[in-house]
Amino acid sequence: SYVGIHATGFRDFLLKPELLRAIGDCGFEHPSEVQQVCIPQSILGTDVLCQAKSGLGKTAVFVLSTLQQLDPVPGEISTVVICHTRELAYQIRNEYARFSKYMPDVKTEVFYGGTPIARDVEKLKNKDTCPHIIVATPGRLHALVTEKSIRLNNVKSFVIDECDKVLEAVDMRRDVQDIFRNTPHQKQVMMFSATLAQDIRPVCKKFMQNPLEIYVDDEAKLTLHGLQQYYIKLDEKDKNRKLSDLLDSLEFNQVIIFVKSTQRANELNKLLCACNFPSIAVHSGLPQEERIERYRSFKEFNKRICVSTDVFGRGIDIERINLAINYDLPSEADQYLHRVGRAGRFGTKGLAISFVSSEADEEILNKIQSRFDVKITDFPEEGVDPSTY
Ligand code: ADP
Ligand code: MG
Repeated sequence: SYVGIHATGFRDFLLKPELLRAIGDCGFEHPSEVQQVCIPQSILGTDVLCQAKSGLGKTAVFVLSTLQQLDPVPGEISTVVICHTRELAYQIRNEYARFSKYMPDVKTEVFYGGTPIARDVEKLKNKDTCPHIIVATPGRLHALVTEKSIRLNNVKSFVIDECDKVLEAVDMRRDVQDIFRNTPHQKQVMMFSATLAQDIRPVCKKFMQNPLEIYVDDEAKLTLHGLQQYYIKLDEKDKNRKLSDLLDSLEFNQVIIFVKSTQRANELNKLLCACNFPSIAVHSGLPQEERIERYRSFKEFNKRICVSTDVFGRGIDIERINLAINYDLPSEADQYLHRVGRAGRFGTKGLAISFVSSEADEEILNKIQSRFDVKITDFPEEGVDPSTY
């Protein structure tokens, strides 16, 4: 908890004029609650461990505060941002591009697996192309560190987005620890997530020195206010039929449909395309370039329907998504929150519908309702008024 004077605008943070200008271009008028609480501290170099609702602007907290503190020196990497998926890394890099628009000397690069490492090595070697800020997934960054292609001895800020996800997975955690050891002791460490269970907090804090801990919402209140949530009970075999009915009858801008495997994503996508639905699939079974290409195509509104696995479940920000469908329910309650959080970004409205087709699904549904203190009700037969989501 915190006591503070609520800033009324980004000006109150005393940011560099070139940042304020970029913020204005982005159309941001007022800082969100998490930004009001974190930015004044984070720009001073304080370590930050932050849990706050999804869709309320955690990215801008670390992007703005690292840019604010950055003094670009050619050939020196000052900021490292780690996240768990390639799409998210790509998205964060774009946020850096947006906000550093008026800082022409600042270079940002994104590094992730599935692309030739030689390309990354080449960029890092040359003083003129070596970035000041890197956004990377743990595996690729670890590989670059191991083969000594990257020098992290000038790092001043170390950020982990979706930190619980990154640090819970044993392989990613090991990579991060190795990478961390190659950075100077004296630096700022910041971590963010919408979910930070009690048992992961000490793991995060091991990387930090006396961090500012911010839990904007307690876990019970993590679900999104503007989001209406329903379930539909049905047999597995009736899912396609029901989905097609929903896509026909609901009004939506863009929809994301979650399934539990790559194979199911491909099959369902094929089926939808065959029925002339403007659908695309994004999952980890795709070659890297294709994967980012499809993500971008969806983000640019070339397709209105995206069938995805959990690679799209966290952190991904696509403004026009106002409907999320769990064709397959996730196996964990937290994952539900990250998935449905794709609809209703930055306080906008949205609709989430979950298919429930087994006893296991029912158990998960109950867990979700108790963990997040939310009532998920039967989808009404008459549908939902489109003006409400
Ligand atoms: P989080 O990481 O907390 O889930 P994001 O950083 O992805 O949220 O931000 C969600 C969306 O809100 C993005 O589209 C972002 O551009 C937008 N946004 C962030 N801060 C503001 C603000 N102060 N005013 C308006 N829009 C904002
Ligand atoms: Mg985020």
